[in-house]
Amino acid sequence: MLDWSETSSNKAIHHLPQILKQAETAGQAGNESAKQTGLGEIDRAGGRVSVDDKRMINCRADVNQLLPLKYKWAWEKYLAGCNNHWMPTEVSMQADIALWKSRDGLTDDERHAIKRNLGFFAASESLVANNIVLAIYRHLTNPECRQYLLRQAFEEAVHTHTFQYIVESLGLDEGELFNMYREVPSITDKAAWALKHTQNLDNPQFRTGTPEADQAFLRDLVAFYVIFEGMWFYTGFAQILSLGRRNKMVGIAEQYQYILRDESIHLNFGIDVINQIKIENPHLWTPKFQEEVRQMIREAAELEAAYGRDTMPRGFLGLNAALCEQYMHFIANRRCAQLGLPRVFDEAENPFPWMSEAMDLKKEKNFFETRVIEYQNGGALSWE
Ligand code: MN
Ligand code: FE
Repeated sequence: MLDWSETSSNKAIHHLPQILKQAETAGQAGNESAKQTGLGEIDRAGGRVSVDDKRMINCRADVNQLLPLKYKWAWEKYLAGCNNHWMPTEVSMQADIALWKSRDGLTDDERHAIKRNLGFFAASESLVANNIVLAIYRHLTNPECRQYLLRQAFEEAVHTHTFQYIVESLGLDEGELFNMYREVPSITDKAAWALKHTQNLDNPQFRTGTPEADQAFLRDLVAFYVIFEGMWFYTGFAQILSLGRRNKMVGIAEQYQYILRDESIHLNFGIDVINQIKIENPHLWTPKFQEEVRQMIREAAELEAAYGRDTMPRGFLGLNAALCEQYMHFIANRRCAQLGLPRVFDEAENPFPWMSEAMDLKKEKNFFETRVIEYQNGGALSWE
């Protein structure tokens, strides 16, 4: 069988097609899987891809051919992401450094909340990136969606870079910050909850194609796009942007505004992906499964409320755990509506109406009076 002594020699490469063939003939799964990754044998006799052959999941058409486009919304998000390009190092940290080092510019409560917030995001950006690359990409069998995923993966790298840059600028304890997702229980609880839904997909044997497996894939999409990026990130943005509105940590607030702009597209891409999978596979979206998704959103809001109490035990001007919980209820209901589900909480008013302004960088000047990058496609596509 496999001769491990050969793995470092060229000889092993000559055996590779044979090994793959064995794997393929071993079962239908291998064959289908090679088609879905785009890395199987080239189908020399196959016909050209027509738009009607394209599917979000379990697609049999060649995933190496971007054109003809079927899902224009995915391509438009790819273009919008490219138009939004930014780098954290373009943002000046001078005011933040001065404030962070001053003795009385920030209260202890504010410092505590800022550190927890940075700690949550620092590892979360990597979790999201790893989920895209190692779990989602393989099973989303559409080239225009994959084109967007590649752009998103890079944006997550830019976001992780942001936290490296903040740590370096402010002289923060990198070990403390990057380990918070393991060491601070209210952060660990959130990360562990999301990872629970990705662990199935992480198994190399995992294949979509049965209702159970396809629902597992949908659960991962809900956990990461709708909940991680679409709910938890939003309270995180609100915390820092609320400080920015009071002229505190304006450099970080500006970076968060750019991250928020990116994330609003990530979220809306995820919502579109889920809704398109629903359209193509209505048998997956059973009443039982819909209830399960609503329950996930409910649980996620509870985890966020616990994190809010831990991060802001006393609260400070304009921000406290109760307001964050109210915001989370508002956002949770909104995410349900975007997925075509009934709301999970009593109707809640948005306690941070300025968040929608913060997302709209088309304004002549943003509220930090700093550089504005036009969000060229934002008006036409209206995502939030
Ligand atoms: Mn991100
Ligand atoms: Fe993201």
